Amino acid sequence: MGSSEATIKLDALVVGAGFGGVYQLWKLRTEGYNVKLVEAGKDFGGVWHWNCYPGARVDIETPLYEFSMPDLWRDWTWQERFPGWQELQAYFAHVASTYDLRKDTIFDTCVTAATFDDLISKWTVKTNVGQIFEVKYLLLNTGFSAKRYVPDFKGLASFKGHWLHPSYWPKEGLDMAGKKVAIIGTGSTGLQLAQALSKEAKELVVFQRTPNLAIPMRQVSSLGEEQLHPKAEYPALYDGRKHSFGGLDFNFAPKATFQDSPEQRQDFYEKLWAEGSFQYWLGTYHDMLFDKAANIEAYNFWRDKTRAKINDSKLKDILAPMDQPHPFGCKRISLEKGYFEIFNQDNVDLVDLKTTPIEEITEKGIKTSEREREFDYIIMATGYDAITGGIKKIDIRGPSGTSISEKWEKGTATYLGMSTEGFPNMFFTYGPQAPTVRYKQYLFHGNFADLVIQALCNGPVCAELQGDWIINAMNYLQENNLNKIEATKESEEAWAKGVHEIANMSLLPSAKSVSHVFPLTSTMLIAITVVHGR
Ligand code: NAP
Repeated sequence: MGSSEATIKLDALVVGAGFGGVYQLWKLRTEGYNVKLVEAGKDFGGVWHWNCYPGARVDIETPLYEFSMPDLWRDWTWQERFPGWQELQAYFAHVASTYDLRKDTIFDTCVTAATFDDLISKWTVKTNVGQIFEVKYLLLNTGFSAKRYVPDFKGLASFKGHWLHPSYWPKEGLDMAGKKVAIIGTGSTGLQLAQALSKEAKELVVFQRTPNLAIPMRQVSSLGEEQLHPKAEYPALYDGRKHSFGGLDFNFAPKATFQDSPEQRQDFYEKLWAEGSFQYWLGTYHDMLFDKAANIEAYNFWRDKTRAKINDSKLKDILAPMDQPHPFGCKRISLEKGYFEIFNQDNVDLVDLKTTPIEEITEKGIKTSEREREFDYIIMATGYDAITGGIKKIDIRGPSGTSISEKWEKGTATYLGMSTEGFPNMFFTYGPQAPTVRYKQYLFHGNFADLVIQALCNGPVCAELQGDWIINAMNYLQENNLNKIEATKESEEAWAKGVHEIANMSLLPSAKSVSHVFPLTSTMLIAITVVHGR
């Protein structure tokens, strides 16, 4: 790709307008960089721009789920403790207008290709609408949800009803009254949808492969001016969340599960449960994710609480089995509000795909090994190609001509989960091998470790931590008159080894092929890459 008159020359191009991209656009501009942001959607918000399905809401409470800049929180009040998509979109509009971000953002545009020219140490970046950018830094903030995952079900094309992935839910909504609706998938999205649609649909059938060990959400719907914390506490709160396990304002308790007597333990679990947020998961005994017996104890409390909400004994066994289906909390926990109770309603049914798998989608509906059921709507709450989908969708080629898809074909290798060898001056947030997103099959000492890690990271916290690290690295180059920065193979291998060792200290790898959690610690983000001077 050669440079032409139409080429837009910039210091940096940011891709994606979720928390990560918005933070970088703002911060780079304040630091004097000439920068633009390109976004596939029509507005700011990332996942909250796309996810307008009924019931979509964040399960991290306010004011933890927002940026830490006083310009933004000083004049902002949340209505809900766990805001829905409408309020989150309004928050992004507030951020955009406070920082006048629209003037440097190009919406409805996808980056399709990027090639690094080693002679000038610049990326040439192309979009689907024909723009060409020449930039020193390519900053990918494509998030975990840029590429939807829809299983390749036999017969899907023959379905005469309407099927959709929840991230394509029309903003104006869909009328589900009187309709027969199927939801495939019971991640956070499937749960939220099931709760909402159980109130509308004539018939709702949830197809579950793995039980969701969701814990209760205690929503507060009209917070008013008081909010959940006085604003004077915000700076300390925001500093504290950077140093916590999950980017929140609490940590594991400084005691082990069996240090307490059974009565004390019951009381402690009850107290955490009543918080109605992630406390039962991440504010519990410090050995819960690390010790098998401690983990089973936490599961058993969850199981007994949950089974008590379900009337039918067969459904109890599918939704909350007597033996844990995977270590508790090693797959990302969701918050629920009445999810288990919907299965007591006459219009809601559950199909256990472990015992009766889907054989095919038919013209009329879904055929499992047991029977065919008819539907008007099939909702594929089956998640995303969250590992590297957003990055690999772009044809990115480093100086050697190798594309990132080719490089990662057999295993994802990164340094710090923010850069990769062979692709200079390119950084990504919410990427693989970071405490921000799931990844699988990373290269570990020449072997492909088939691990899927679901990071636990609070989006805005990681956007700021990773954004600051990346911008500090860029500033280092600028201040030292250096042209490029690139991870080395050795640093990638050392990083993979470190990630593997940390994961192995916990029960996380024992929940294979499912989402896991991975701790956020700011120390993980402190490291040095090799800088090449020219
Ligand atoms: P997800 O967590 O990946 O869940 C996908 C679901 O689809 C799982 O239950 C999975 O079952 C199932 N599935 C996948 N392939 C299937 C197949 N071939 N047949 C049957 N079932 C299949 O996706 P998500 O719920 O959309 O969530 C995506 C991410 O966004 C997660 O990190 C989630 O926590 C986050 N999220 C957060 C919020 C929030 O903050 N409140 C809301 C929504 C989403 P298995 O478990 O067996 O693989």
